[in-house]
Amino acid sequence: MTETLSIVGHERPIRVLLRAMASGRTAHAYLFWGPDGCGKERVARYAAQLLLCKDSGALKRGAPCEHCDSCAKMRGEGHPDMHLLAPGDKVISVEDVRKLQETLSFQSFERGRKIAIIRDSFRMSREGANALLKTVEEPPPETHLFLLAHHRSQLLPTLVSRCQPLRFDPLTDGEVEEVLLLKGVEADDAKVLASLSGGSAGMAMAHDMESLIKARDEADSVAKNLRVMSPAERLELSERWSKDKESLPLRLDCLERSLRRMQADDPDALDTMGRLFTVSALIERNVNLQLALDALFLLEDDGGWEELV
Ligand SMILES: [Zn+2]
Repeated sequence: MTETLSIVGHERPIRVLLRAMASGRTAHAYLFWGPDGCGKERVARYAAQLLLCKDSGALKRGAPCEHCDSCAKMRGEGHPDMHLLAPGDKVISVEDVRKLQETLSFQSFERGRKIAIIRDSFRMSREGANALLKTVEEPPPETHLFLLAHHRSQLLPTLVSRCQPLRFDPLTDGEVEEVLLLKGVEADDAKVLASLSGGSAGMAMAHDMESLIKARDEADSVAKNLRVMSPAERLELSERWSKDKESLPLRLDCLERSLRRMQADDPDALDTMGRLFTVSALIERNVNLQLALDALFLLEDDGGWEELV
């Protein structure tokens, strides 16, 4: 199975990308934004393979040849001109950005293009983002950057404005099911997991069914009842969630989806979702968890963000 065949969904951003590539107008910096685990990195890797493919017709065709040594390297141990900056749960520091810039300033190994993919680019420190701005404004020749993020508002606006943003929507349940089947999940499980995944194949693969159901039900209840809970109940919630660091990303993700479903009929849900985005971005920067969750759940007007940053 090749990468090419396993991209599921995202017809619109892929069409925009391929059209630009086919007409020789590939942007120097793209921002792919959309839910975690929906396949942004997969599409970025596909674009990288296309840009690095040695077959001169690949870009026009919108498909890599799959036979040249560049394609083989992209599928195998990695291509020396494809650089991935993946911070894990750390901040992307200005030093990380400078190191990447230095690498990109060299002649490419294969005398062709150079590609950088920055996973979770919202984890960049302000200094890091400012440093990257220079590369985005005046990229080294034949260099293309792909910044990946959950939401474009998580990045410095000056950086966003210099990238070509492409929005990725959550996958449909059917598409998640298709990804799971490709990954070898049993058909019955794939169907149920997909219905719980909220459009994220990554999420469906990272958790078992029982914890997905539990997290979804809890998030629905929090989203629905937050405004009628007593301050003591909200404090308890904040304390409980902050203590279980491992479950927090799944909990916050489920809460976002519950709020999204509610926002059409409930203006408060939209307000809570705004808080959730701010708090999620702060959590990425390693602020005190309990304080961040207090700011989310206690619903004070000023949010108390200033003390956290
Ligand atoms: Zn090729």
